[in-house]
Amino acid sequence: MIQGEQVWDAHIHLFPERLFAAIWGWFDRFGWDIPFAGWDLDSYLSFLQDMGVDRGFLLPYCHKPGMAMDLNRWVRSVALANPWLIPFASVHPEDEEIADTLALCLDSWGFAGLKLQLAVIKYPADHPALVPACREVYQRDKILILHAGTAPYAPGQEEYKALGLRRVLPVLEAFPGLKLIIPHFGLDELGLMQEILEAYPKVCVDTSWALANPKLEVPESELAGFMLAHRDRILFGTDFPILEHSPRDMLSALNRLVPDAETRRLILHANAQRLVAGSDAVGSQPG
Ligand SMILES: [Zn+2]
Repeated sequence: MIQGEQVWDAHIHLFPERLFAAIWGWFDRFGWDIPFAGWDLDSYLSFLQDMGVDRGFLLPYCHKPGMAMDLNRWVRSVALANPWLIPFASVHPEDEEIADTLALCLDSWGFAGLKLQLAVIKYPADHPALVPACREVYQRDKILILHAGTAPYAPGQEEYKALGLRRVLPVLEAFPGLKLIIPHFGLDELGLMQEILEAYPKVCVDTSWALANPKLEVPESELAGFMLAHRDRILFGTDFPILEHSPRDMLSALNRLVPDAETRRLILHANAQRLVAGSDAVGSQPG
């Protein structure tokens, strides 16, 4: 980090211990070599703070129906104990009480929005079962984070079938002005992602997983060009701790690829702050 710069990590995954153990097992079988697997909660939080992160979006996700409220309650308790974390809600499309769950999380508990991990639930963005959840977020002008890009999956993998940015277009048509964040720069569809950013002014992307990723085949110069061209719409995010490379390398990559301090300030902090301002989210005050 460059001394004095504030870092807002717009993509942090933390889970209760037992669920995290299951997630690490899954990634292990998937062949990921994750150096951060198996740490305790406090170690994750101090790692981020030590690298200069002073705000962050805490993103849970459900992989099956019926687990959302336990997870949301846990997320709330972590955010209450660590006010620099801004909580997001999770639901599964097969849950029975999506509207009640989201009313509680978004209204009573002040969560900033909802994260849907489409690769995990294996529903495409425009699936009718996701409409009720999207509508609850939209009506409150909260933020929807939709893991809809195809990366890091390959055609032929089961997850891939539910992914792809084309499936996001009907959602944007149905909910004009929806505050939407697409993780991982929208990879592997950078061209279509740029078209979406140009057509829909409330859509943003985050940099998670992609920056400094040795497995990424996209040249860094292309990511640098993307960030400069859309500097008001990019949020720095890590995906920590579900990462094979270090979030510190991601910050160094950002500093290298974005030499302009004002552009860095937008990507590292101001864009995320602008997005939560006015959404009545916990922690949306400047800070
Ligand atoms: Zn993620």
